[in-house]
Amino acid sequence: MTSYAEFYRQSIDQRDDFWATQARLVDWQTPPQQVCDYSHPPFAKWFVGGTTNLCHNAVDRHLADRGEQAALVAISTETDTERSYSFRELHAEVQRMAASLLALGVKKGDRVLIYMPMVAEAAFAMLACARIGALHSVVFGGFASGSLASRIDDAEPVVIVSADAGSRGGKAVAYKPLLDEAIRQARHQPGAVLLVDRGLVPMELESGRDHLWNDLRAEHMDAQVPCEWLASTHPSYTLYTSGTTGKPKGVQRDTGGYAVALAASMKHIFNARAGQTFFATSDIGWVVGHSYIIYGPLIAGMTTIMYEGLPTRPDAGVWWSIVEKYQVTHMFSAPTAVRVLKKQDPAYLKKYDVSSLKALWLAGEPLDEPTAQWISDALQVPIIDNYWQTETGWPILTLANGIEQQTTRFGSPGKAMYGYHVKLIDEATGQELTEPNQKGVVAIEGPLPPGCMQTVWRDDERFVSTYWSTIPGRQIYSTFDWGIRDADGYYFILGRTDDVINVAGHRLGTREIEESISSHPNIAEVAVVGVADNLKGQVAMAFAVPRDATGLEDAAARMKLEGEVMKQVDKQLGAVARPSRVFFVTALPKTRSGKLLRRALQAVAEGRDPGDLTTMEDPAALQQVRSMVAA
Ligand code: AMP
Repeated sequence: MTSYAEFYRQSIDQRDDFWATQARLVDWQTPPQQVCDYSHPPFAKWFVGGTTNLCHNAVDRHLADRGEQAALVAISTETDTERSYSFRELHAEVQRMAASLLALGVKKGDRVLIYMPMVAEAAFAMLACARIGALHSVVFGGFASGSLASRIDDAEPVVIVSADAGSRGGKAVAYKPLLDEAIRQARHQPGAVLLVDRGLVPMELESGRDHLWNDLRAEHMDAQVPCEWLASTHPSYTLYTSGTTGKPKGVQRDTGGYAVALAASMKHIFNARAGQTFFATSDIGWVVGHSYIIYGPLIAGMTTIMYEGLPTRPDAGVWWSIVEKYQVTHMFSAPTAVRVLKKQDPAYLKKYDVSSLKALWLAGEPLDEPTAQWISDALQVPIIDNYWQTETGWPILTLANGIEQQTTRFGSPGKAMYGYHVKLIDEATGQELTEPNQKGVVAIEGPLPPGCMQTVWRDDERFVSTYWSTIPGRQIYSTFDWGIRDADGYYFILGRTDDVINVAGHRLGTREIEESISSHPNIAEVAVVGVADNLKGQVAMAFAVPRDATGLEDAAARMKLEGEVMKQVDKQLGAVARPSRVFFVTALPKTRSGKLLRRALQAVAEGRDPGDLTTMEDPAALQQVRSMVAA
């Protein structure tokens, strides 16, 4: 049995041999000729010359051995429905969807934007795209028309797949009007819109453009659409994520590298086997949804559970009832969700038999010790933190218990995963920090392992300038997170180095929120910072300078303007980005050269000492923030 240390060392020192072995975990139509082409750093090409297909590996490959096994179980506590699809049924549904997309004009290499609630048809659409070589671009259903419009313009989809509505807390949330508005705002016009009618809200169809899934499905009931064999480097999808600038970046992923990375992670990290059941509580709009609701578990021949609903409805036992009913072996969630459950009656956890569970993986934001301890005591299974990013597609830091059982250290997501040559770098000098417990930027030496982003969609230059050019004197990938490593190789993540905040595991760029707020006619200037929050990890707080402050000494007038600003963010970006508070100030704290003192503002908003303020122009600005937040 290999030790993890040895496994890791092989992945770095004998990179190509290591990944050639992992590549055998998936089916290839043509085997790769070269494991890694890194002749044009930082652009890595994995499994060059190989052809494969993600949908084949996720679905078709399992038909012979497990055709009747449940592949996808879509549970909605919002509509009180449970729909289970065997691999054979999933195969049929995906082909119907693929035939429908082809009929609507989608060709290999085209983009299909998916703006969907957590219903099975969303999975069909993703897999159908993979099947025909179209790139899906899933946009989280919680985003509103402004966010959606900018993604439509960037991805330029031939078809958009959507639905009449999602549902939250028992209330229908209409999607179609938001989509119509987004298409109105966008420069790019999709050729067609394919709509799933759930019967939740009435839909107005635009003739010639809008098509109903039920109609197309019926037309293509017996469709047989073979998998398109794609070059390993053929892009499989783009997924937008926030960064320092206002414009979201389209993270572009390949086909073969992603298939191998996920298959390897299911084996080595999740220690999973075909026939077991994976339940990730995320949303398909996020990277966890792509890797560990759809592709990873299905590639591994597991049953995957897709869940629409809250963790507390009809009561806080709902997830555990699912674990019991479907004998879930692997569960994946986010610390915020566990903190929500922690506030509920612990009796709910005792009501169900959760003995099928092998472990719970948590990711997306820092996992605080009390939360980890509470859920560990309650479930009596290992709680495994894992740290990664939309960009990487699979964990950078965690424990590879499929290789060697390692002990969890609360507060640490774990060790560097095989393939990731993780280093801590001194931000000022670019030097590697090799001593234990030194704080540095978590960076990854190129090439990034298989499965990670290939580039920024249609913007190679931005890929290089954003990720590979921020450390002085060297080309190395920055995660934009601070971290330390202890003497045993366990890392600790200490927060972002940039202006990205993390609200309940959702990654938001403060600039995006600022841009939305400043488009309000009465806002002259605004700064948004992330402020520590017991439940959500962080919340966004806005400090805005009104153009006309007349009347704002009155609390009711302030509340009215605050409400308007929040509504504006809801409308443009979606409620996920809404600041928890908008404070109106006369000036923002700035240096004499006019640079916003963001860190000082954040420190004061969190009630901490803002540190050295010698360069500050007007100390009263910070004093005003202090008294407002304290009030
Ligand atoms: P996203 O791309 O939305 O997955 O967000 C990635 C960012 O979330 C990382 O760069 C971290 O700042 C944060 N993050 C993700 N997982 C963890 C974790 N396990 N512990 C601490 N921070 C995390």
